[in-house]
Formats: sequence, C-alpha cells, structure tokens
Amino acid sequence: MSDPLLAVTNLETHFPLRRGILRRTVGQVRAVDGVSFSIDRQKTLGLVGESGCGKTTVGRSILRLVEPTGGSIRFDGHDVRETSGAALRALRRRMQIVFQDPYGSLNPRMTVRAILEEGLVIHQMGEAADRLERMRRALEQTGMPATTLARYPHEFSGGQRQRIAIARALVLEPEFLVLDEPISALDVSIQAQVVNLLVELREKLGLTYLFISHDLSVVEHVSDEVAVMYLGRIVERAAAAEIARAALHPYTLALFSAVPNVDPARRRRRIVLGGDVPSPSRPPAGCRFNPRCPLAETVCREIDPPAVVVDGHHVHCHLAAREIERADGNATVAAGRIAAAMQAATTVNSG
Ligand code: SF4
Repeated sequence: MSDPLLAVTNLETHFPLRRGILRRTVGQVRAVDGVSFSIDRQKTLGLVGESGCGKTTVGRSILRLVEPTGGSIRFDGHDVRETSGAALRALRRRMQIVFQDPYGSLNPRMTVRAILEEGLVIHQMGEAADRLERMRRALEQTGMPATTLARYPHEFSGGQRQRIAIARALVLEPEFLVLDEPISALDVSIQAQVVNLLVELREKLGLTYLFISHDLSVVEHVSDEVAVMYLGRIVERAAAAEIARAALHPYTLALFSAVPNVDPARRRRRIVLGGDVPSPSRPPAGCRFNPRCPLAETVCREIDPPAVVVDGHHVHCHLAAREIERADGNATVAAGRIAAAMQAATTVNSG
C-alpha cells in the first residue's frame, strides 16, 4: 500500500488572545488542538462540525495560509511546516483551495482571464499562448465557455462564480484541493450541480480532496472517510458508510439526527443538544463535549478520552470505549446501545 498523499499529525493552531491598550497576550484560542488524519491519493476526507469548531482553520493550516503552532503536515513525503521559499511555492501549486464565498473570493476589478492567469504567472507556468490554452481547458473542465475569460465576476451567477473559482484552482494542475464549504453560499437548487462537478473532476483528474462542511449529508455523499470535529479536536473518524451506519460518539449521533432522510429505515428522531459550544480559549476539562453531552459521567469531566480504534473506526469517548469492550469489539452492537441511550436521555422532537 502506498503512503497517503497527506498525513497530518497532532496539528495545533493556536491564536494569541490579546486584551487592553498594550494588547497583552492573556490566553490562547485553541482553534485546532491536536488533530491527526491522513488522506490517500484520489480519496476524499470529509471534515464536518458546527461553525467555530476549527475545521476551516485545519484546511488553512495545511496550506499554511495560517501558521500552525504545532504538529506535522506531510504532503507527498514533504514536511510542509519545514518548507519555505521556492520549495513552499512549488508545494502550494500542488495544493489549492476553493473558498466558501464565490462573491468575496474573486476580485471584482479583475477579468476572469486576469484572475486565472495570476497563479500561472506566479508559478511561471507556460508562455502566453500556452497559458491561454491552460485557462480555456480549466474553464471547459468546469463547464464554462472560453468567452468567460473576457468578462468580470459580477456578470455571473453564484454557481458560475464558484465554477470560475474551481477553474482558478484547476488551472495550476494541483493534486490536492481543500474545499472549504464550497456549496454553502450557493442556492440550494445549484448546490447538487457543483457537488456533482467536484465528484466528476476528482474521478477525471485523479484529485484528492479535503471537503470541509457543516452539512453532514453532503459530506457523507462525497467522502470516502468522514471526520467529525468538536472544539478543535476530531472526536470520531471512520469510512463514510461505517460512520453513517454505526456512529459511536454522542456528538456524531446528534449531528446525524439533524439530517433529513427520505429513507424511513434511516430516519432518526432529532436529538436536541442543550447549551452552547464552549469557547476554544477555555475548553472544558476532560472530554470537551461533556457540558453538552446527555450521557456524561464523572470520568468525562475529569479525563480526556483517548482514541479507541476498531477496524479503522476511531472514536474519543469513555462510554464508546466501554460499550465496545462490552460488545467484544463489535462496533455495530456498541453503536446501537449508545444510540438507544442517547434517544432515551434527550429531548425528543418528532421529525
Ligand atoms: Fe459524552 Fe463522556 Fe463520551 Fe464525552 S466521553 S462524549 S461526555 S459520554
């Protein structure tokens, strides 16, 4: 088996919390606080969680658009955090990002041609005629006509702008894309088109994705593996089909219960979580989810749950660890028991 294209180990991105006239550092916002995962070539890892959980910071830290404060990031064998200058520029060409907002991410004063050509010039890719050919090809791959080049972003709809943003990434012939909530700013009617385009491009161009979203149903649909993030940490990670079938973490169960499902066999009663997400500058002791977890016990308030791994299914939860042991390592049986306990312990709304 070949090495993963991307391997992230114990990634930390903390931001100083400053106060007062002198802007003294009074604490740290632990936006990302010990995140590990890997992505094999031509696969998609979906990273899901509520807003503010740190998922966007993970994506930006990998590309060093924000500087990580700890851990390691290896891309195709290169240590991204130890790379600088021309070598970092070369790596960045291979790792591109598509942002959430196609209105804010395209400069309204630049033509589409100038927007697409900027990266080619920075990375010294091709002569003028060759660059034009590359830009036409990238637009064609995203379903936009070559005439798009002479026009400005405001002349296009949200969905078309997102296609242009994807073309801007593709023109540099990357191997890896961070897709940061790529459809959440779009009309519901065109979200599916853009998702299908991304899936098609991954197959056709052999791309590898980190797909970041708050929408578990979309993530489950496009991903090979899903990681669930809460307050700067990944709390559960498994193959997409496995996590949908046998979620072990109470937070994942709550997220899944909010996904509308047309299949009656998979429809679940809504689990309503109490309280707000705590501040990442003052994460709770023990399990970070304990103030909102309906199944929290004394140990949850005192000890940070370590990872338990069963057949590639990772979970950080004391209860899940105990239920897995009680079920002799059968994650499906353990997941059924935890789901039943969650249903019994929470406020239940029909739906
Ligand atoms: Fe809930 Fe405890 Fe599991 Fe945390 S460790 S998710 S508080 S049961």
